[in-house]
Amino acid sequence: MKKSYKIEVDCANCANKMEDAAKKTPGVKDAVVNFMALKMHVDFEDGADPKAVMKEVLKACRKVEDDCEIYF
Ligand SMILES: [Zn+2]
Repeated sequence: MKKSYKIEVDCANCANKMEDAAKKTPGVKDAVVNFMALKMHVDFEDGADPKAVMKEVLKACRKVEDDCEIYF
């Protein structure tokens, strides 16, 4: 299951860090951050609950970039 989310992040470097953090989160099959569009595209594992997984993604992203935001 694929979903897109609006994000806020200050630069492309932090966007890359968010992408890496999202990819490592359990329940995420793959994640791509588009800094120009300020979007995060997430492909979830089968059976994963997107809302629960995104909470963990946001936590992981805040560890690498405490100013970031993901709207979900
Ligand atoms: Zn930055």
